[in-house]
Amino acid sequence: MTRYIDIHHISTLVRIVGVEKLIFQLAQYIRDDFLRWPEFEKSPRTANHSDVGVIELMPVSDANLFAFKYVNGHPQNAMWNKLTVMAFGALAEVATGYPVLLSELTITTALRTAATSAMAAKALARPMSRTMSVIGAGAQSEFQILGFRAILGINEVRVYDIDQAATEKLRRNLEHVPGLRIHRALSARAAVLGADIVTTVTADKTNANILSVDMITPGMHINAVGGDCPGKTELDANILKYARVFVEFEPQTRIEGDIQQMPADFPVTELWQVLSGRKIGRHHMSDVTVFDSVGFALEDYSALRLLNDLSIMHGIGTSLNLVPTPDDPKNLFQFVAPLPNAVHKSYPAEAPTGKSVTLPKPLLIL
Ligand code: NAD
Repeated sequence: MTRYIDIHHISTLVRIVGVEKLIFQLAQYIRDDFLRWPEFEKSPRTANHSDVGVIELMPVSDANLFAFKYVNGHPQNAMWNKLTVMAFGALAEVATGYPVLLSELTITTALRTAATSAMAAKALARPMSRTMSVIGAGAQSEFQILGFRAILGINEVRVYDIDQAATEKLRRNLEHVPGLRIHRALSARAAVLGADIVTTVTADKTNANILSVDMITPGMHINAVGGDCPGKTELDANILKYARVFVEFEPQTRIEGDIQQMPADFPVTELWQVLSGRKIGRHHMSDVTVFDSVGFALEDYSALRLLNDLSIMHGIGTSLNLVPTPDDPKNLFQFVAPLPNAVHKSYPAEAPTGKSVTLPKPLLIL
């Protein structure tokens, strides 16, 4: 049987554990897996683009487990009252190929993106960073704020969104969090002024200039989350020239990240190298650091691993009869063989009288 986690299960699980604690645990799982970076078989995700969005498949594996995620990005979906980003995915045993877990990953993507952003900021931002600006108050935004609060102790947040209702929704959702102060800014420039950390998490399939170079002050850390597919960026290219830029998986970020605006030899550092101590993140307090986040399959692998562990620990989730279990593995036909006394239905079927049917063309005529 395959363990199954749906929206109801994940809501229950997150409510039992708590959003901040779960993001904290998830960051530990992601960090542990990033420290094993060379052990993973990795590839940029496969993306099918349309004029309005993208649908992507994200696989990764080590010697024991394989994971994949199906995820979309459709910035105009809000107009149809649909999510910009939604996802599901699976974890499977490498030894047999059998699926261990099938899970919702929409809420989980928001949790793992926040965990990765905050984990990166912990390694790259100035120690004692306390204020954050968030540009974009959509589906990811509350998760981002709670992730930074759990992992960096951020309690002062300035938020700007072109949609005032989105900012109001964010304020309502987080107004009961003890000690957290949310301020609504009237512009991105006002939000960013004097912030230690700036998170950009907007959605628009365009080369946007959410931040321009004159908005940046020395020492800032920029967590650029929304520029995550070809033709979809958030940062003025001059910021990237001026900053030290860190990425998840370089071959994927060159295609999808804000650095798609830069030449192919533009210098970047993969985050795992900083986490493992192979490379230095911030050299000086005055450095501007950018985490050019696009979302990498390994983060979903870690998230699926944690969900599997938590669902077993808390007894949450159900089992799915996804894979047949024949008595004889060579006898798959037993699942479709006619039951005793059943009338054999031959093919092609006769068309019901009075109606014409178009039968599929046989592939092979014997
Ligand atoms: P969403 O549509 O729910 O929210 C986006 C918000 O951005 C909206 O409220 C919109 O009004 C606002 N916005 C758009 N243009 C703006 C501008 N110029 N200034 C200020 N606000 C603006 O989307 P979401 O689910 O929150 O995702 C946000 C972005 O993050 C998307 O682009 C998505 O693809 C990306 N994302 C990245 C990762 C990652 O791992 N890097 C993971 C998940 C989502």
